[in-house]
Amino acid sequence: MRAVFYAVPVRHVCAAGLTTLLLIALSASLVFGRIDHSPRHSRLKVAVDAGHGGSDIGAWYPQFGLVEKDINLSVAKTLVRQLEDQGFSAFLIRDDDVYIELGERADLANRARADIFVSIHVNRFPQDTRCRGAQAFYQRGSAYGQQLAVFVQEELRKVDPTNDRKAIAADFKVLRETHMPGVLVEIGFATNAHDRQLIMDPGYRNAVAAAICRAIVRYRENGLSTDNRSQRSPGWSQRPCSA
Ligand SMILES: [Zn+2]
Repeated sequence: MRAVFYAVPVRHVCAAGLTTLLLIALSASLVFGRIDHSPRHSRLKVAVDAGHGGSDIGAWYPQFGLVEKDINLSVAKTLVRQLEDQGFSAFLIRDDDVYIELGERADLANRARADIFVSIHVNRFPQDTRCRGAQAFYQRGSAYGQQLAVFVQEELRKVDPTNDRKAIAADFKVLRETHMPGVLVEIGFATNAHDRQLIMDPGYRNAVAAAICRAIVRYRENGLSTDNRSQRSPGWSQRPCSA
């Protein structure tokens, strides 16, 4: 009787101990699983620029409560949080309602030695209010910027499958003067009713930030360069850069 009396509790204790060990092992594998991935991402620093700010309001449609500088900042803040969750080092060029000169925005990213630059904006085209769709722009001649913008555009399309815009080359000062691959994302047209509804929806803004975040993860996982200067060599400038 004594043997049975002890045998049962001991088995229970062992079972409980085994469960605990399994849980510890599982937690450890989850922790180490994250650590396995983190170093690759943690080396990457992403500068996130919320376009406009302070006296520079950007697109402004008070009848709809749409103020571009505020929309940009909300997307930028969400993107920084999401990038940090993925193990990136990310920071905001402006974290408040202040105006920073375009050249200074590029300088801030350069001085911080950011690896990737992202600028967030809202588009407008009063001449044709049918124009709609989020769009990614890259600096003309930047092959790496183009690749990043193509990834961003592909991910944006998943957010709104009716958006048939393509990543295109442009000449924006913040992209031209930054020393790392960059992308400028117009999250939609303030002048289009469909887009305006999306832009004013926090769920859409969150989804757009998540799309940009996924694109940056893909960029890194493809082992693409974070040094824009290398592509200014003749070899890179001969590459086609049209979207
Ligand atoms: Zn803008």
